[in-house]
Amino acid sequence: MPAPPRSIIPWDDVDTVMVDMDGTLLDLAFDNFFWRELVPARYASHRNLPEEEARRELTGLYKALEGRLAWYCIDHWSETLGLDIRALKEEHRHRIQYLPKATEFLAAVRRRGKRLLLVTNAHRETLAVKVAQTGLDREVDSLISSHDYFAPKQSQTFWKRFLADENFDPGRTVLIEDSLSVLKAASSFGVKYTVAIRCPDSGQPPRQISSFPSVDGVHELG
Ligand SMILES: [Mg+2]
Repeated sequence: MPAPPRSIIPWDDVDTVMVDMDGTLLDLAFDNFFWRELVPARYASHRNLPEEEARRELTGLYKALEGRLAWYCIDHWSETLGLDIRALKEEHRHRIQYLPKATEFLAAVRRRGKRLLLVTNAHRETLAVKVAQTGLDREVDSLISSHDYFAPKQSQTFWKRFLADENFDPGRTVLIEDSLSVLKAASSFGVKYTVAIRCPDSGQPPRQISSFPSVDGVHELG
């Protein structure tokens, strides 16, 4: 008889569970649609450009800000592109969805009596739209946006400020995330347990991840 599969999270050694939002609890298909299809189409018509050209221009702008806080800032994009990004998100909020069994996973974590924090790089306004659509605020103990600390989760500055503010023991914390650069930053800071998500977008095949313990989705945890 094969031994039963061991949980990837050593629950007895963990008392704080940090989960990312987009691509971990919520389907990244929404964000990919939003930034790769909707925004280029609206930007093209706003600037009177062929869609291909708008897309090329945007890809350059996105790349330049990758991993930086401004990437997640609604005001930044509204000003740069001349589009009302918050209104566009509101208009398409019906497309925002949980990844498979994400709420069941959150409920299971709470049943274990762990402290459950949602930690996101999303701007507070984006967070508000997503919370209104999903009721995510009822599923976790607290919602943390890195914007409150003026530094993205990819930076050590974020982790230092966050720890100073929220009392948690990095040695008894697990972070579940789809961003490998965030997992790397958390891990160098001292967050002991990390789990990467292989399938952040339900419309895409799973990614190969070798640098962190990984699962297709949170439905495998719990
Ligand atoms: Mg994410």
